[in-house]
Amino acid sequence: MSFDPHAARREFPILGRQVHGKPLIYLDSAASAQKPRAVIEAMSGAMEHAYANVHRGIHTLANETTEAYERARESVRRLLGAGSVNEIVFTKGTTEAINLVASSFGQSLKAGDEIVLSQMEHHANIVPWHFLRERLGVVLRFAPVTDDGRLDLEGYRALLGPRTRMVAISHMSNVLGTINPVAEIIADAHAAGALVLLDGAQAVVHSRVDVRALDVDFYAFSGHKLYGPTGIGALYGKAELLASLPPYQGGGEMIGIVSEEQITYADPPHRFEAGTPPILEAVGLGAAVDWLMALDRDAVAAHEHALYDRVKERLNGANWITEIGTAPGKGAIFSFAMEGAHAHDVAQILDRYGIAVRAGTHCAEPLMRRFGMTSSARASFALYNTLEEADAFAEALTKTRTFFA
Ligand code: PLP
Repeated sequence: MSFDPHAARREFPILGRQVHGKPLIYLDSAASAQKPRAVIEAMSGAMEHAYANVHRGIHTLANETTEAYERARESVRRLLGAGSVNEIVFTKGTTEAINLVASSFGQSLKAGDEIVLSQMEHHANIVPWHFLRERLGVVLRFAPVTDDGRLDLEGYRALLGPRTRMVAISHMSNVLGTINPVAEIIADAHAAGALVLLDGAQAVVHSRVDVRALDVDFYAFSGHKLYGPTGIGALYGKAELLASLPPYQGGGEMIGIVSEEQITYADPPHRFEAGTPPILEAVGLGAAVDWLMALDRDAVAAHEHALYDRVKERLNGANWITEIGTAPGKGAIFSFAMEGAHAHDVAQILDRYGIAVRAGTHCAEPLMRRFGMTSSARASFALYNTLEEADAFAEALTKTRTFFA
């Protein structure tokens, strides 16, 4: 198989639009990716033909909708290489998945227990752990990041000890593009007796994930970055771990028996899916996963790398651009500062050329501080971007530079 980005982008109706009279060049997919027709049609098709609440019905539409919802869980199981659908919990996204683990697993923690994070984490993988620090006196330790944006493995290992209970680290950084050596991270954490949660919000979009081969304990991701809808994501958890965790939220569907005196809980994954779930969003996520998995994912990854390489080549070492994150083998994310310019101004000028990039802290303030920056601009590439767009981006950067030089 191979991959044709021009054919793929025709599946994304929004990419045909213009911004400020220019063809849209969407380089903000790390924040949220655009949606292919397969997702749009799966969701509208469900509303038009087979929609009801799930799990509680006897009637045909309830059964059909339940089947569609559970089929989406099977798609996510395949995406992550999990052994059972019962290890896949639907959540609102990565943020909720991490909050679920911090909240439920956190109930077993005591003051002085340690959680190891890294300096390159998104706030979604920092703040829920801070809650445990504030409430329980759990200690947070941050593995250092090297100047080129790698995780400092020696520094990481030095943080592991007898009180380490959890290592929670991003698989791929949303700012640096760094892909962390997760197999080593997991092996070291397990040797120290700690569990591992990987924040897969970025990595799952660009690489093949196999939770069983990794032997990871928890894996979190969001649908909307994976060409699916917002409001849905998933948490993978090893069966025996999920079974050992108390519920996260209470309500319908997550119970065994409820009486005036007592409650019992359903088995995972339903124990963690209180209330009516995001049904249409699950259907959309299932469609996104099936669509993505039908592509040659290695060819897609090679294409995305080529886009990043092309921008670097076109900029040709321009000394007015400082890139943060140059780790070998990194993913297709280009975070940078332009000499003399604020990142917001850069993003605003690029917008006039029809180019969408993100500017700010990217919800990673500790990382920004590590690099002595208050913000950066970020171009993030997806499978629907083309080499011509990479060229146009580099050219627009050169023009933007003239406003500040
Ligand atoms: N983790 C990483 C690495 C991310 O890039 C993001 C989103 O930008 C998140 C977590 C949070 O994802 P969400 O807002 O979909 O929950």
